[in-house]
Amino acid sequence: MSHANAAMVLLSGGQDSATCLAWALERYARVETVGFDYGQRHGVELVCRRRFREALVEAFPRWGERLGDDHVLDLSALGQISETAMTRDVTIENDARGLPNTFVPGRNLLFFTYAAALGWRRGVRRLVAGVCETDYSGYPDCRDDTVKAMQVTLNLGMEQRFVLETPLMWLDKAGTWQLAEKLGGEPLLDLIIEHSHTCYLGERGVRHDWGYGCGHCPACLLRAEGWRRYRAVR
Ligand code: ZN
Repeated sequence: MSHANAAMVLLSGGQDSATCLAWALERYARVETVGFDYGQRHGVELVCRRRFREALVEAFPRWGERLGDDHVLDLSALGQISETAMTRDVTIENDARGLPNTFVPGRNLLFFTYAAALGWRRGVRRLVAGVCETDYSGYPDCRDDTVKAMQVTLNLGMEQRFVLETPLMWLDKAGTWQLAEKLGGEPLLDLIIEHSHTCYLGERGVRHDWGYGCGHCPACLLRAEGWRRYRAVR
């Protein structure tokens, strides 16, 4: 496999990583995906990411030809050591510093490290993640500086030349919907609405125009608001 033409997408099953998968498939000849099972409260996203991949292959055969293996890694130790609203059944709130308790310390740093270790074995140098600093939920590990520092650390520590790509870094949520439309039009928007999962509580009972979710957790509010702004400017 040519290094230059292959990418590994960190696919959680959410709107952002689903959009990143389409973005990577448009650019690279071979795209693999990696997901992490860390005991997340919204473990349903692991089912959604699989369904999204399947639906994507069906709706976009040209992308299906490029889509390679999916890897789901067990990071249950992260869930065991994390006292957060993402891994425990507690109310979502902010701490004294303003940091939401949905923040799982070390999560993205571990994700990148595991993705790089996997990429090493698979001969994939480009790691694509849907982290974003614009609308971000206050997570320090989604910042551009964090990702850039991580790239340097991985390259020094593994004697490699990984490139960490973050196509959504400077987009807000409305911009992410716009990017999806540009990549795959209404059919891709429909797949993201139907199959991607954002809600922190794992709710998929009610379908809104922006997708499934409780409609009131911070993740649902951000997704719904982005959708509203995106539709308003169309
Ligand atoms: Zn929700």
